[in-house]
Amino acid sequence: MAVDNALPWRHLLSSLRLSPTGQAPAEDCQRCRESLPLFVSDEMAGQAVDDLYMETAVHLDLCPACFQEYEALAGLAYAALYDLGNDA
Ligand SMILES: [Zn+2]
Repeated sequence: MAVDNALPWRHLLSSLRLSPTGQAPAEDCQRCRESLPLFVSDEMAGQAVDDLYMETAVHLDLCPACFQEYEALAGLAYAALYDLGNDA
């Protein structure tokens, strides 16, 4: 029964933040990634980033792609901070 496109409730989904595949809207990813460097540096500084960057924090919970980006940035930042030269 592949009638996805004809389902009457389908257009309602467009008002939700997430599509049925769990993908966040692209503009959310854009904004999230723009704030990631600040998010990471403030997090490292001990700021309450969940409050300061609530949208970003929420988005990271929803979006595996951006979370990977966050992990990469945080990894680089911590490596630079602690100079983990022998972690290769
Ligand atoms: Zn994203």
